[in-house]
Amino acid sequence: MMVKLAFHEVRVGRTSASSGNAVLGGGALGYWKEGGTVIVKGVGEFIRRPPAPAFATPAWRASSLLQEMASKRSKFADLHVHTRVSDGWVPPEEAVERAQRAGLAAIAIADHDSISGVQAAIWAGNKYGVEVIPAVELSSGIDNLELHILGYYIDWQSKWFANRLSKLQEFRRERATKIVDKLRELGVDIDYNLVIAIDGGVVGRPHIAQVMVDRGYVRTTDEAFDRYLGTGKPAYVSKYQLSPTDAIKMIKKVGGVPVLAHPLFARADHLLPKLVEDGLGGIEVYHSKHDATTTEHYEQLAQKYGLLMTGGSDSHGIGEIPIGHVRVPYSIVEKLKEELVAMKAKEVTAEKLVGRGLIKREPAKRGRKK
Ligand code: AMP
Ligand code: FE
Ligand code: FE
Ligand code: ZN
Repeated sequence: MMVKLAFHEVRVGRTSASSGNAVLGGGALGYWKEGGTVIVKGVGEFIRRPPAPAFATPAWRASSLLQEMASKRSKFADLHVHTRVSDGWVPPEEAVERAQRAGLAAIAIADHDSISGVQAAIWAGNKYGVEVIPAVELSSGIDNLELHILGYYIDWQSKWFANRLSKLQEFRRERATKIVDKLRELGVDIDYNLVIAIDGGVVGRPHIAQVMVDRGYVRTTDEAFDRYLGTGKPAYVSKYQLSPTDAIKMIKKVGGVPVLAHPLFARADHLLPKLVEDGLGGIEVYHSKHDATTTEHYEQLAQKYGLLMTGGSDSHGIGEIPIGHVRVPYSIVEKLKEELVAMKAKEVTAEKLVGRGLIKREPAKRGRKK
């Protein structure tokens, strides 16, 4: 196994059981396997693994801390991935396999208006050693703006949630028939059955665009959006069943952390105070379509409103944006988990206060988080 460091190339020799980290001469962080030998190439020098410090001594604590720091540093997550279940092009299992090949420790399966891929992804996660975060991306709209709200760690087995989602999916099917009708009037004659034949349960404009490409009406799906399907284009039909507030409440009701997806596309900075009041927990600062200036802008807004800064590729499995194209440190996953605990604690406290007749309902205002 080769590990590239800033100045040294380190080869790990004989290996067995567990692994760890050591500070090599020159201050670089190295890597060894229990019972193995570390060779620093180029320097030509063999460094014996230091004897394991005795349990619970200060040296043992320091060595454990170093190990933990290095393992966290090397763990990454992609918190926004689509599968066949909505408008992605790979099955959930394959998305997880691709995440493993990309070297990710965790992946959030966040299909549009569906949690149907979560179960299969969790199974695949066990097989491939990738942590799968159950998630969803709800489409919502207000004042001609389209806001996508990600929900992390939702109770994906909730019957109530599944019912709500199936209504949203039904509405998407009605909308798709309207789009197909509009296209026909515009001389683009595609069959609705061809569209639903390629969707995985949640029909969207990308499926319609694909059929338009297959039938030779346009050369690329981008062209389909630019000429017909994009917002305000001749075959555009709005789909919003939910307002952003509805979407946030729906996610909170099943215990998830609501996060505003790709805020660049949402163009809803002015709505953030209201969304935060509704319970928005984070904002997707890091995204494939965010440049450095955009990222910095949303980092500042996240700080201003005390929101978690999340990130993900928004990959559809194959195409120009592979899974893992945007990856965030695993510490963000831990922060999401902390937010869940804080939400739960707030709920319990609120319930107690309501029980004692001290408050009528949970106060909506949120404090600033670190
Ligand atoms: P829908 O869920 O039917 O509103 O479709 C939205 C999805 O279409 C987004 O999640 C993207 O995957 C894709 N999309 C949106 N705008 C474009 C575009 N201009 N070009 C290509 N794909 C797009
Ligand atoms: Fe999509
Ligand atoms: Fe989206
Ligand atoms: Zn997405």
